[in-house]
Amino acid sequence: MKILVLGAGVIGVASAWYLSRAGHDVTVVERRAEPASEASFANGGQISVSHAVPWANPSAPLQILKWLGRADAPLKFRPRLDWGQWLWGVRFLRECLPARTRDNTRHILALGRSSLAALKALRDELGIAYDQQMRGILSVYTDHRGLDDALSHLALLRAGGIRCEPKTSTECVTIEPALADAQPRLAGGIYTPDDESGDACLFTRKLATQCARRGVRFLFGHTAERIVIDSGRVKAVRITDAAGGSQELAADAYVMAMGSWSPLMLRQARVAAPVYPVKGYSVTLAVRAQDDAPRVSVTDEARKLVFSRLGDRLRVAGTAELAGYDDRIDAGCCAAILDRVFELFPHAGDRASTQMWAGLRPATPGNVPLIGVSRFPNLLVNTGHGTLGWTLACGSGQAIAEIVGGRRPDVDFPFLRMI
Ligand SMILES: Cc1cc2nc3c(=O)[nH]c(=O)nc-3n(C[C@H](O)[C@H](O)[C@H](O)COP(=O)(O)OP(=O)(O)OC[C@H]3O[C@@H](n4cnc5c(N)ncnc54)[C@H](O)[C@@H]3O)c2cc1C
Repeated sequence: MKILVLGAGVIGVASAWYLSRAGHDVTVVERRAEPASEASFANGGQISVSHAVPWANPSAPLQILKWLGRADAPLKFRPRLDWGQWLWGVRFLRECLPARTRDNTRHILALGRSSLAALKALRDELGIAYDQQMRGILSVYTDHRGLDDALSHLALLRAGGIRCEPKTSTECVTIEPALADAQPRLAGGIYTPDDESGDACLFTRKLATQCARRGVRFLFGHTAERIVIDSGRVKAVRITDAAGGSQELAADAYVMAMGSWSPLMLRQARVAAPVYPVKGYSVTLAVRAQDDAPRVSVTDEARKLVFSRLGDRLRVAGTAELAGYDDRIDAGCCAAILDRVFELFPHAGDRASTQMWAGLRPATPGNVPLIGVSRFPNLLVNTGHGTLGWTLACGSGQAIAEIVGGRRPDVDFPFLRMI
């Protein structure tokens, strides 16, 4: 089949790879000059299947209230005259119900595990190097209540096949010696040895090169403008190039993988997708020979910050801001992240080398992505991966290729209507 993939973030490129591998003739349309130039560019780097419990969980409403007005709050709501934002907020609250949290966690876990297996297979097959670390993730807690709350989710994670090991503060330092200075503040931690980390941008760009070798055509600098519907099917997608030239591209099937921008274009075709941009920030520092930066990927649960060592760089990411499509970097937010980095790791790296970044996570209220067939049988969606797009990319790409092939992926996941 001839397939048009819209968007070349980690999800679009992973989709293109598995579709091409399944024998399809694939073209990818991307408005930017390179793959992974939006949310997939400088994310936290964690392949964190163990972080399957979504932000929307029973503790969230009270926690969010406590954070209101705090400059260093991990989650910020900036109210706008935007019906979509308020509706998303209401849906988020509904996903905080215990039964919803349980279901969402179960589904994210199932997709996460299949995705990690797919990533490993791809790594073995292609030998792609992307500053990966297979040292697990150590989630550390600076307050006992946070730790107790996390421990209460362990049974659910273990039932989903995740190895989780509670650790004392001393054991945390044994796993990651760079935490030595922070030890007096630590209440304890949870170590998940099967998690990984790596540079999502590097991975996506290298996978795109492999896709191109297989014959996948990339149209960079081309913007998808409109979905053309005819007789209950997508007939074409209208695209424009940088010079303003416009054309209609026709295919047998279309995969929407435009991240946070997916719902805007789907809306034109009257396909409702509850995806809203949730802005986050990252800082990346150079790690010099004399520095003592973590090697094991760490999550600072009090501030919801993730630390990933990417070769001779340290990436730290976090913050969730509901502020529409404004992707400007708030230097104050990045400075707050940096302060926390040096609070926990006083010798983390070269502060003067800091690169700041902001990106928009394409988030559904329950953090469960939308994967499958829309109300048009030849329009598929692979979007809404929220906080876990890097973690879930390979599994989502593999699943969409299965669905295009008319098969139900063997994953306990609520895939959208099948062809
Ligand atoms: C601060 C931060 C930290 C994160 N940390 C982690 C982490 O540690 N682990 C993890 O698993 N996930 C993490 N994530 C989430 C992850 O980065 C995202 O879920 C993932 O990158 C989404 O990928 P995507 O391909 O759907 O979207 P994107 O990467 O945004 O790709 C969408 C693409 O579509 C293109 N596009 C949009 N509109 C059009 C159009 N009209 N025409 C053509 N092209 C178009 C865009 O240019 C873009 O390239 C983090 C995100 C942020 C912001």
